[in-house]
Amino acid sequence: MSGTRVAILTGAARGLGAATARRLAEDGLRVAVIDLAEPTAEASADAIIAAGGTAIGVGADVSDPSAVEPAVERVVQELGPPTVLVNNAGITRDNLLFKMTEGDWDAVMGVHLKGSFLMTRTAQKHMVDAKWGRIVNLSSTSALGNRGQANYSTAKAGLQGFTKTHAIELGRFGVTANCIAPGFIASDMTKATAERLGEDLDSYVAKRAAAVPVARAGQPEDIAHTVSFLVDERSGFVSGQVIYVAGGPRA
Ligand code: NAD
Repeated sequence: MSGTRVAILTGAARGLGAATARRLAEDGLRVAVIDLAEPTAEASADAIIAAGGTAIGVGADVSDPSAVEPAVERVVQELGPPTVLVNNAGITRDNLLFKMTEGDWDAVMGVHLKGSFLMTRTAQKHMVDAKWGRIVNLSSTSALGNRGQANYSTAKAGLQGFTKTHAIELGRFGVTANCIAPGFIASDMTKATAERLGEDLDSYVAKRAAAVPVARAGQPEDIAHTVSFLVDERSGFVSGQVIYVAGGPRA
């Protein structure tokens, strides 16, 4: 049955989203990769197709209401109605509070919160029609508070409330909604953080990994595996949860 499912993953041109798109395709889902620039989304989709999966790449800014509706409509036309949505697109605009601009605040809220809202509002009708759906939103251990991330931590905490609310609203239609809160995962976003802190990437990763109870940095595949579990046909009784995938109980 899962072979007929269509999944949309936002921000899946690279990083956690790309790894998750690959994994869901391996699981037998048809996958729509949405990212800002269509060529990068298509490159990610092409890698999935080369590995034997079914995928398309669609360029769209998830924070732009005029882009979201046509992007989801293209998925409907080219792959079928989406019943899995992974809201993964994200940005950081880190700064200490006293230096944080309104632009830094609005940009982060726009992608994480408004983007997830717009995508979920648009995609949920296909799940309600199908009487089955799976929504996974990417939160973060930063939701618990993180120096230099007043905007990002607020958005990631907000996503937890957003998720719990649509778990309640959509549950009766067979739709589950859950959050994954990754800890330290090695990705391009990590590179950006190391650069911002003026640290060498390898020593930054080693230092962060040493503080993780399982003594390693997370990999994008760790997140992909958790998404795979949450969107599985058999995971229908897990809803409204926040799973910290952080190699231990805390950030
Ligand atoms: P990344 O920067 O490598 O990839 C993010 C992707 O989102 C990029 O391809 C980017 O182009 C895309 N994107 C950004 N704004 C967009 C928009 N408006 N519309 C469409 N696409 C957009 O990041 P990542 O490390 O893979 O993180 C993925 C998600 O996981 C993010 O939500 C991030 O906040 C979260 N997360 C990451 C970590 C980590 O350690 N890497 C930890 C916790 C949470």
